[in-house]
Amino acid sequence: MKTFLVPSYNMEKLYKLTKKMSKKTPVHLEVDENKPVFVKPIGAPSEYPYKIKCYNVSVEGKFQVKDFEFVATLEHKETGNIIRTLSEKELPLKFRTCGPKCEHCGKIRNRKDTYVFYNSITQEYKQVGKNCLRDYLGTDLEEVTAYLAYIKSFQELNEIPEINSFEFGALEKSNRFINVEIFKTFVYDEIKSKGYCGQGKTVRAIFKRMDEEKLSNDKYKEPLQKITEWINSQEILCWGTYMYNAKVAWNSNDIVYRDTALIASLINVYFKNEQEIIRQNKLRDSTHHVGKVGDKIEIEIASLKVLYIKDNSWKSYYAQSTIVYRIIDENGNIFKYSSSKNLENVKRIKATIKGHSEYKGEKQTIITRAKVLETKAIENEPEKQDVLSYSSNDETVRSCDKAIDDFLKLCDEA
Ligand SMILES: [Zn+2]
Repeated sequence: MKTFLVPSYNMEKLYKLTKKMSKKTPVHLEVDENKPVFVKPIGAPSEYPYKIKCYNVSVEGKFQVKDFEFVATLEHKETGNIIRTLSEKELPLKFRTCGPKCEHCGKIRNRKDTYVFYNSITQEYKQVGKNCLRDYLGTDLEEVTAYLAYIKSFQELNEIPEINSFEFGALEKSNRFINVEIFKTFVYDEIKSKGYCGQGKTVRAIFKRMDEEKLSNDKYKEPLQKITEWINSQEILCWGTYMYNAKVAWNSNDIVYRDTALIASLINVYFKNEQEIIRQNKLRDSTHHVGKVGDKIEIEIASLKVLYIKDNSWKSYYAQSTIVYRIIDENGNIFKYSSSKNLENVKRIKATIKGHSEYKGEKQTIITRAKVLETKAIENEPEKQDVLSYSSNDETVRSCDKAIDDFLKLCDEA
């Protein structure tokens, strides 16, 4: 059994030929299509952005006529012989450089090809010219000719194409597979310098660049390795399907065009995550917990925000809602307080420290049992008429409000 690397786009032809051949002589192919191998075209530089998908094809193709086993076809060139063989027999080295001689009749002719057979009785290798084949083998040549043709086609089908000139995208598009490492390098470079655009914009820009630019995959080897470690350390089950798919695509060698957007968005998520970690670290350093649990403290409220309101009406008809407040004092310390109290116009409170927590890097001190010490002087409420006139049928005001809402939504998404 001999193994060859055959480009995937030649497989169909190879199957057909082999099927035809196997009617005459036992030839058998073994291919694991689940394990493709991706290779660069011959002569392509390391930064070539595409690869060729190939399969390892094992062939069982011993060809025997009587006592003669066919070993190889020698194609004679000025620079040496091209050897075509499916046999497992080790071809003696002399056949690599020998001339177009026929050892059967002893004549040297200007032959293009000669053939090497192994005689199992005499245990000898013999180089024979085409014209002497019938005489040497003592048989009809139909089968032999078919086999020789098969070997020749086989050789052609397992040739990896060559990139003669350094030309990106020289390979036919349908036969190009993306060089994943190079692609990731471009994605990293593109998003790092220009940011990420959805709807395929970033990916299109990258493919354009891949056809025009060279970018060595050494350039971002380290950060890309970090991303791989990051994604593989993520608990994928809590991710959505999209990110799950992205992880699969990221780790695959075999990506097709429709997978490229997954990889691009993954690098984008990584960058965002990185920024978020930096932001949180900064916040962690700049915020502080206050006091010890049980301490009674006074807080001067500099800013008050309602985080959310818990509806308790399911408990009983009269149960009041709980308002969860985020309070910032004059020193910038952050407190969290849950109560049914309305603190809207409160300036100073006294409370007990219940605990300390952290939310996305922000250190928060949880307080309880707050007593109001001081309230703000109530400012004049705007007159009701003003409010009404604002919310009247003024189209401009309403479209303005909508624009602001849209803008805030975009900010949240960004
Ligand atoms: Zn001869």
